[in-house]
Amino acid sequence: MKKLTTLLFLFISFCGFSQNKYGLKATTLAEYKQSLASAPQKELVNLEEFIPGIILDIRYATTNNFTGEKIYNLARAYSRKSVAQALKKAQEEFRKSGVGIKIFDAYRPYKATVKFYEVYRDTTYVASPYRGSRHNRGCAIDMTIVDLKTGKELQMPTEFDSFKKEAWPKTPVKDPVIKKNRDLIISVMERNGFKVNASEWWHFDFVGWQKYEVMDIDYEELEGTR
Ligand SMILES: [Zn+2]
Repeated sequence: MKKLTTLLFLFISFCGFSQNKYGLKATTLAEYKQSLASAPQKELVNLEEFIPGIILDIRYATTNNFTGEKIYNLARAYSRKSVAQALKKAQEEFRKSGVGIKIFDAYRPYKATVKFYEVYRDTTYVASPYRGSRHNRGCAIDMTIVDLKTGKELQMPTEFDSFKKEAWPKTPVKDPVIKKNRDLIISVMERNGFKVNASEWWHFDFVGWQKYEVMDIDYEELEGTR
């Protein structure tokens, strides 16, 4: 009987049917690799390589984020290939206005979403671990824009990851420069296949994210260094 139970457990684990404590099944590295055979656009691509000139400021690879803890071991920005292609087009359009993209976060392993939820349980600002985040699907980008000449960030209504109402894209802004900057980032991203989040001016979802699964693959696993 014990042997049968063990075999059953191994079978379930092998098939990837085991769920986490929030009842969500996140894709493993093996499943992700398998999915690429029939859907190559699901590939997670390194944005620093795919979009030359893009700037990274991966806050969760530092302690400078709302958890106060270093969540990632590597400072990386990955997204699904179709998302990266749309972002590349957005970068070309931004360049016409003399600005470039700076990324705070892109693909996020599911375990990080669980951690965020356990630190800060308000799902207005952090994704519910019961559903997972669009970042977990490789379909969301947290970003701002920088002046291409100086490299400085353009002024926005709040800092990245602010939990204030001023971070909501629909909150009126008095300062005309800040309003212009916010309008620029949102309009360019939305013309290129993204939709801004209702409570975060810096968060953009790829339109069509529903077709991509939640994944729990670390950057080290992805790069084969672990
Ligand atoms: Zn985000």
